[in-house]
Amino acid sequence: MLNLAELKELLAQPQKIVITTHHKPDGDALGSSLGLFHYLRQKQHNVQVITPTDYPYFLQWMPGNADVIIYTEKKEQSAAWVQQADLIFCLDFNSLSRINELGELVKASSAKKIMIDHHLDPENFDDFRHWNTKACSAAQLVYEFIAELLGDKRSINADVATCLYTGIMTDSGSFRFPTTTANVHRITADLIDLGADNAAIHQLVYDHSTENRLRFLGYCLSEKLEILPEFNTAMIAITRDELNRFNIITGDTEGIVNYALSITGIRLAAIIIERTDKVKLSLRSSGTFPANEICKNYFHGGGHRNAAGGQSESTLEQVIHQFKTLLPEYKNLLTQ
Ligand code: 5GP
Ligand code: MN
Repeated sequence: MLNLAELKELLAQPQKIVITTHHKPDGDALGSSLGLFHYLRQKQHNVQVITPTDYPYFLQWMPGNADVIIYTEKKEQSAAWVQQADLIFCLDFNSLSRINELGELVKASSAKKIMIDHHLDPENFDDFRHWNTKACSAAQLVYEFIAELLGDKRSINADVATCLYTGIMTDSGSFRFPTTTANVHRITADLIDLGADNAAIHQLVYDHSTENRLRFLGYCLSEKLEILPEFNTAMIAITRDELNRFNIITGDTEGIVNYALSITGIRLAAIIIERTDKVKLSLRSSGTFPANEICKNYFHGGGHRNAAGGQSESTLEQVIHQFKTLLPEYKNLLTQ
């Protein structure tokens, strides 16, 4: 284990540093990673962000995007970086299975590992952790890491601020989830002062749909939405054939599940997608309903109470059936 003083001492000298984040990075995964990247680079470290997979086009505008390596596209280069790194920062995940094949490489590397994360139940693979499940985002924790733990707020430049703002904005549901405390707003205000252009960032992330994505959303809402009134649950299941028919690419399905949750009285919303290699579930819930428990208990997944995900090797039909048949177990919680 490393204590903060030892970590600070390491960071006082130029280091070879890898930053990695979870499978199919979202705004927080990429924003926290690139925010930290800009900070560490400014401090003369040799830094590389490696994502396990690709990520949505509406995140590809972020400063530093061109410097990111995607593991599945550059396996050898990624492996060399991980092997030779002095430090590996693991952001927005806490189980090595969340970074796929890259997890084995991280585990085998002799680098010191630093976890910055806000998910429940962390695995013990790290040497130092800044972990808080109450944080609205990993980006908030990166801000705290720089400003409070390292005491270096003055080094947050516009690029750092822009990326961290994006992470906080996306993971807090644009400042609407209960994790959006007064302190989150204070941090956000700081980031705007430090150079994050909030209006531009909102537009870059949320107003960059393709026509195709919007038509697909319309199709899901008009043809695919199923309401299970007895359980205050709404679900949308999408076949591989439909993904192909609409030429769906990474990011196109993100956010659809939130429309299902927005119906009055709905406590739990699910989107179940038949991907090429597996069936993927995304759950959203309101109030105290623990969506992560369903994902953990039935679908090899996890996440937060109100936003969780998982997967299954079964067929789409089987997963839909499994999902519907587990609901009675949660009926009291869903209807109270
Ligand atoms: P999404 O539904 O947007 O993919 O993910 C929502 C939340 O659930 C995120 O916080 C994400 O980290 C978590 N999550 C999604 N899929 C998985 C999974 O397969 N395993 C685990 N442990 N968490 C997941
Ligand atoms: Mn996050």
